[in-house]
Amino acid sequence: MTKAMKNSHISKEVLDKIKNELQERLTKVDKELADISNEDGTVKFEEYGNKADENAQEMEKYHTDLATEKVLESTQRDLKGALARIEDGTYGKCKYCGINIPEKRLEARPVASACVECKTKLQNS
Ligand SMILES: [Zn+2]
Repeated sequence: MTKAMKNSHISKEVLDKIKNELQERLTKVDKELADISNEDGTVKFEEYGNKADENAQEMEKYHTDLATEKVLESTQRDLKGALARIEDGTYGKCKYCGINIPEKRLEARPVASACVECKTKLQNS
């Protein structure tokens, strides 16, 4: 019995599909992050030129990239977390109440780590 089989309420086909999708998304996010980052992980500052409008463009691009980086990093964390849960067999369980998250919800939102009920409660509190 492989470790992944512990995610028992999800069929193997669906789990494989979800895993592939998560990995594809992660590859894409890694690439997008690499495109806007330096080797040390900070956001690149691209030089367009020395004119005032060029400087303004540089700043605008830099700020857009900073915002993009935040979004990408949080997405990357979600994707890695979901893949780690598949590996350790806890994928598809609500992290708050522990119930099995319905397969349909996971197919629609593979990074989901909470059931709809807990999610709703959290958003309203
Ligand atoms: Zn829950």
